[in-house]
Amino acid sequence: VWIRVKDVCKRNGLLILSVLSVIIGCLLGFFLRTRRLSEQEVKYFQFPGELLMRMLKMLILPLVVSSLMSGLAALDAKASSRLGIITISYYLWTTFVAVVEGIILVSIIHPGGAAQKESTADSGRPIMSSADALLDLIRNMFPANLVEATFQQYRTKIIPIMKSPKAAALTETTTRRLVIYGIQGDNGMDIQNFSLDLTPPPEIIFRSLPGSSDGMNVLGIVIFSATMGIMLGRMGSNGSPLVNFCQSLNEAVLKIVAVATCYFPFGIVFLIAGKILEMDDPTAIGKKLGFYAITVVLGLVLHGLFILPSMYFFITKKNPIVFIRGILQALLIALATSSSSATLPITFKCLLENNHIDRRIIRFVLPVGATINMDGTALYEAVAAIFIAQVNNYELDFGQIITISITATAASIGAAGIPQAGLVTMVIVLTSVGLPTDDITLIIAVDWALDRFRTMINVMGDALATGIMAHVFRREFTKKPCDEVPLICETKPMISI
Ligand code: ASP
Repeated sequence: VWIRVKDVCKRNGLLILSVLSVIIGCLLGFFLRTRRLSEQEVKYFQFPGELLMRMLKMLILPLVVSSLMSGLAALDAKASSRLGIITISYYLWTTFVAVVEGIILVSIIHPGGAAQKESTADSGRPIMSSADALLDLIRNMFPANLVEATFQQYRTKIIPIMKSPKAAALTETTTRRLVIYGIQGDNGMDIQNFSLDLTPPPEIIFRSLPGSSDGMNVLGIVIFSATMGIMLGRMGSNGSPLVNFCQSLNEAVLKIVAVATCYFPFGIVFLIAGKILEMDDPTAIGKKLGFYAITVVLGLVLHGLFILPSMYFFITKKNPIVFIRGILQALLIALATSSSSATLPITFKCLLENNHIDRRIIRFVLPVGATINMDGTALYEAVAAIFIAQVNNYELDFGQIITISITATAASIGAAGIPQAGLVTMVIVLTSVGLPTDDITLIIAVDWALDRFRTMINVMGDALATGIMAHVFRREFTKKPCDEVPLICETKPMISI
């Protein structure tokens, strides 16, 4: 037995260390909360975690560009368009299923309290109209400046929203502290029309709306690289120098990922503990908000442990547990970073090395999925919107529920794979049915935690989809004479002695 345990530990050392670091991070975080560290001390403490995030983010751009360009160049036009259509249809389907699950659960559990017919929901000041949000999504697909797209995505100016007394009541804190959220770096903290009639006046804190900044426009980069890849494939041998370059870049990035992985367990401890130090007082989370969080988590568990694995099983007839075990490391990184884009390099490595998926499939299906396929986010957007309606005693009719399901799907596609991006795109869902967008602040207190779980499901959805596509296209892909781009085979130097 001891020898077997030793063998398992040896083979899964890094994974076991990562699981341990999640546990140590939680314990350390809760312990240090009792020590009441100053803001400065918390910042220093978070530094190793910040380094982990930076390492992962550093790898996104070369990985996405190199994998999509070389991956699509390797496919013939017919295969790539078929793979593209089937992948995107599958992504839309699973997202929609997630939304429906969310709607059913939130309607049954009813976390926002009993509904009474009222039609005064539209009291909120929209922070951005849904038309603007959809236009932003399309704008992001076509970045005017590619260099700028690597560090910024387009966002229409958002007027700050306030943590209203209603939000404070939900979290059972007092209204003595008023938090004003706005877009960081956008000097639009426009508060002229804002007056307070509270005596004594509360402390006012400015914060950036989570997920509003630090976003690379991955969608734009995906569209550009995919188009380039298809064109390179059509160019034949003229395109081979660039394809070869992308292939080498892709290999090199994966080698860097392998080295960086050694740092992950250490980084995870500080990333998780640092977040726990920052969070609002967990005992102040009110009953309604608690039930809301439970509803989202239940939906995510249902989708991640039952629906997605069943789809994988029915299509491939393979054991989904074995597949999920192969991507555990990626799921842990998703939990620690709350970012599916940052997790992308690890998911790539897991699928390649543990699940042995054809790299030509991974190179296309995974980056596209990390950008547009967010089942967890879609489920959460639907639950959150209906929860906000329930808190406002606003009964939604069937048409509005349909609208929510469509806009929640769109909002999840538009959300970037960065922490709490879903919170920002939720304006699309709320404005579509006339709910007050200011009420996004109602759920901010628990969002950082839910974000971690929904990111795990987002990553799981992309990975399982890659496994499914590898199965569906297994014949097309085994036809190729070599595992790589045919051009590469031709251009490999011949060594003769
Ligand atoms: N954090 C999520 C992700 O990166 C997006 C979100 O739901 O906010 O996948």
